[in-house]
Amino acid sequence: MKVLVVGGAGYIGSHMVKMLLADGHQVITFDDLSGGFRDAVLGGEFVEGDLADKLALDNVFALHQPDAVMHFASFIQVGESVQLPDKYYRNNFSNTVNLLDTMTAHRVKRFIFSSTAAIFGEPEYVPIDELHPTRPLNPYGRSKWMVEQMLADYGLAFGLRYVCLRYFNAAGADPAGLLGERHEPETHLIPLVLQAASGRRPHIAVFGRDYDTPDGTCIRDYIHIVDLCSAHLLALNMLNDGGQSNCFNLGNGEGFSVQQVIDATQRITGKSIRVVDAERRAGDPARLVADASRARRVLGWVPRHAELDAIIEDAWRWERTTAGHSNM
Ligand code: UDP
Repeated sequence: MKVLVVGGAGYIGSHMVKMLLADGHQVITFDDLSGGFRDAVLGGEFVEGDLADKLALDNVFALHQPDAVMHFASFIQVGESVQLPDKYYRNNFSNTVNLLDTMTAHRVKRFIFSSTAAIFGEPEYVPIDELHPTRPLNPYGRSKWMVEQMLADYGLAFGLRYVCLRYFNAAGADPAGLLGERHEPETHLIPLVLQAASGRRPHIAVFGRDYDTPDGTCIRDYIHIVDLCSAHLLALNMLNDGGQSNCFNLGNGEGFSVQQVIDATQRITGKSIRVVDAERRAGDPARLVADASRARRVLGWVPRHAELDAIIEDAWRWERTTAGHSNM
């Protein structure tokens, strides 16, 4: 298939491009490089462009005539979304309207969307399945939930078939060491702990030790980037085989606390990490764990890198490359 990967120069998109190419697909990456890196796109065609630019989008579809679209291009910082909601609604929502309208005009009817556990808001129960109520707590989560609702409407009106994949905590790196997480600024726990281990940061701050969890720190469901991408590939194949639109929660179904992540990182890296206690971060639920049984059942998805150690080991290899200390 010919797959247009929007946001293919970013963290998850770049791993996806690599996997699609390895699976024999033709890939066109469309990315404005606002958060991604040209050298993270390991093959296929690359078009630098902005989703707000409808003409540029139209040209890409006219020239390449993709069979399917995967959409990874979005802003992802919850705190920033509260300060700058316009930025989030414009990029994550309005620009996605542009993308879907261009798809409709060119009769491209298969769409895979990067959604998020943030659409659920404060969990009423864990693990969180697809039937859990959706009450996003911030503009980031709302922008993603708005797109999910719009997709249902476009499906009914225009015959679009789509899959929404709600990521829990994406982490890890390409096991071959060619790609990894490169957010600027970095806000995610695992890369920050690893940067504290490699010496690129003086310490890791733990945001709250008074949560209702066994060690008092927040629990998250970390999912390896390769497992996340393999779910996209299965979703693409399902749509290609005539499967129905659907939404899937993606995680391992097992939670690890912030303290457990730090302990595992010290053990794996052999480095001692300075830990500083800090205030709670606004909007952090105590526990977010996925029930991904629908993805397993419908897509036949089997996570192959589910162990926290595997996730941290692969991310550590990448951190050592990035930090330039290959002998660490
Ligand atoms: N966290 C932390 N210190 C940091 C960054 C994150 O204690 O420097 C905590 C954060 O409060 C949350 C967990 O680590 O409980 C995972 O946060 P992350 O930003 O990686 O992902 P999120 O769960 O927000 O998507």
